[in-house]
Amino acid sequence: MRERLRIVLTYVTWPALFGSCLILTHVGITSGHPFLYFNFAYICLGSSIFAIERLMPFERRWLENDGQMVPDLGHTILSKLAAQLWVVFMLYGFVHVSSKTGGVFWPSQWPMFFQVLMGLVIAEFGLYWAHRLAHEWPFLWRFHAVHHSVVRLWFFNTGRFHFVDAVVSVTLGQILLLMAGAPESVMLWVGMVTPYIGFLTHCNIEMRFGPISYVFNTPGLHRWHHSREKEEGNKNYGENLMIWDQLFGTFFNPIRKPPVNIGIGDYVPQGLWAQIKSPFVWGRVQSKISADAPDAMNRLAIIDR
Ligand SMILES: [Zn+2]
Repeated sequence: MRERLRIVLTYVTWPALFGSCLILTHVGITSGHPFLYFNFAYICLGSSIFAIERLMPFERRWLENDGQMVPDLGHTILSKLAAQLWVVFMLYGFVHVSSKTGGVFWPSQWPMFFQVLMGLVIAEFGLYWAHRLAHEWPFLWRFHAVHHSVVRLWFFNTGRFHFVDAVVSVTLGQILLLMAGAPESVMLWVGMVTPYIGFLTHCNIEMRFGPISYVFNTPGLHRWHHSREKEEGNKNYGENLMIWDQLFGTFFNPIRKPPVNIGIGDYVPQGLWAQIKSPFVWGRVQSKISADAPDAMNRLAIIDR
């Protein structure tokens, strides 16, 4: 009986958490208090995930402290601040186009559900390519490596992005929405769905997704994305939706269990400030380390001595 309940929970947790956030967002936007409701939903989602991670972890070892909570929090605050300032600058500095009704090309007469869906698909095209470039273009990888240097996945390191990485990604996602003439409400929806999905993709909860993974970015898919193996890690670039991974051939969802031993071969230092600096002095750090030891894990020990 207990086992059956556990299996049911593994199936319903993701839709229940995501669905509750969407309902709260809908109430917030229609009642004219979008940020109040968003923050409430975001805090409830974070604390629910924190509790469920302890009750139903995907990997028990990922509950152990990795000594990265200060950098995780620091990058989250810095990258959110930089991305939000940049969006405000783009919206009100450069263009000032986001209106209540949307631009002339935008299908404002469509039901809101389809407008939001269209907004998500358009923004995702930019987010997909920003993320794919961050993996495949060595210069951008230096910044994105900060995110992939984690050795465990849990909701707390969702926002661990170098601020330059965050600004590149938000720029590509937002510019396409602006060009499409998306109205304010669609921008709000896209801006709020993205952090909900982000929290969920990083969480350390044992869940099953079935067909959901073919549409949305789920923890099951994102754990493959954090694999040490390039053939597995350079896949599943979608931030919210998997549509562009499906179309461009980077969708990866095998039946076997995703890796638990995650991370990267490149060296990323342990401290917040050193991590912020590392992309700018990448060559120096990597060459010094690889001369000292060929193995990535040993590199950590040597540099931090
Ligand atoms: Zn990545």
